[in-house]
Amino acid sequence: MTLSITARTRVFALIGDPVAHSSSPTIQNAAMKDLGLDGVYVALQAKPEEMIGFVRGLAMSGGGGNITLPHKEKAATVVDVRSEAVKRTGACNTFWYEDGKIHGDNTDVEGVARALEVFLGGPPEGQKILVLGAGGAARACLVALMDGGVEEVHLLNRTRDRARVVARRIGGAKVRVLDDARDTSGQSYDLVVNTTRLGLDPGDPLPLDLTQLGRAGAVLDVVYLSRPTPFVEAARELGIRASDGLEMLVQQGAVSFERWWGEKPSLEVMRESVRAQNGS
Ligand code: NAP
Repeated sequence: MTLSITARTRVFALIGDPVAHSSSPTIQNAAMKDLGLDGVYVALQAKPEEMIGFVRGLAMSGGGGNITLPHKEKAATVVDVRSEAVKRTGACNTFWYEDGKIHGDNTDVEGVARALEVFLGGPPEGQKILVLGAGGAARACLVALMDGGVEEVHLLNRTRDRARVVARRIGGAKVRVLDDARDTSGQSYDLVVNTTRLGLDPGDPLPLDLTQLGRAGAVLDVVYLSRPTPFVEAARELGIRASDGLEMLVQQGAVSFERWWGEKPSLEVMRESVRAQNGS
């Protein structure tokens, strides 16, 4: 793809650690090119102390960007104006400059809600769901599940106290924090959502042994790679319908795009750009 960079080009970046695996530059640059917008989107690997300077610098130069792991919670404290989604989750994944202030939003909430609708064919109303993880993605997922009318959520995280904090903040009585993976043994879930980062690095263990569940109706892994994630593959081998995080990536990216440009990108252009990148 040829981008024409001018003196007025708006610069956007994904800031995180790691970022090399990300398809955000692919989908955002494809969407800007499709609409003829003068912008460029890159990925910047940054430590926590470097992230703050990048956010302020990019926003105040008239651009903006996305924040990814492990900086979303810290970023929520860096922006001047926090959206409802940032306030509810305590996590920020999108920033930009407007009316003399740095604004922050968490488009993962709408992104995962829309991805769930596409995957489930409707909201998760009345469902019993197991959520693995308690980081930024888990917070967004929990808000989306609560707003979608879920019946009950079991929350399992390596660091149990972090899960407790998240459950207290979001979901209240509908969320039960599990002590460890043995608590899922024999349990039946309509949906299992992996929001841990497991699967991102080669050699990672699976986030859960699905064979010890009573039943899993479907599996959504928010992790995505250029091929099906190991958790998605494990689910499919057991005959469980499963999807990775690409649709969520596209949906949250589309909402971020609207915040920066004030217009809707083509979802199909974004999806097609990832398919082309992955050679699928
Ligand atoms: P985060 O805030 O850093 O949280 C990481 C989560 O992974 C925590 O629950 C952490 O548990 C868990 N974890 C890390 N290493 C682990 C290990 N060795 N064993 C078990 N659990 C482990 O990250 P995040 O922002 O939530 O992102 C998590 C994943 O979601 C990433 O892969 C990210 O790329 C993906 N994501 C995808 C989308 C999308 O659009 N598809 C959007 C957002 C995020 P502890 O609390 O115990 O550390």
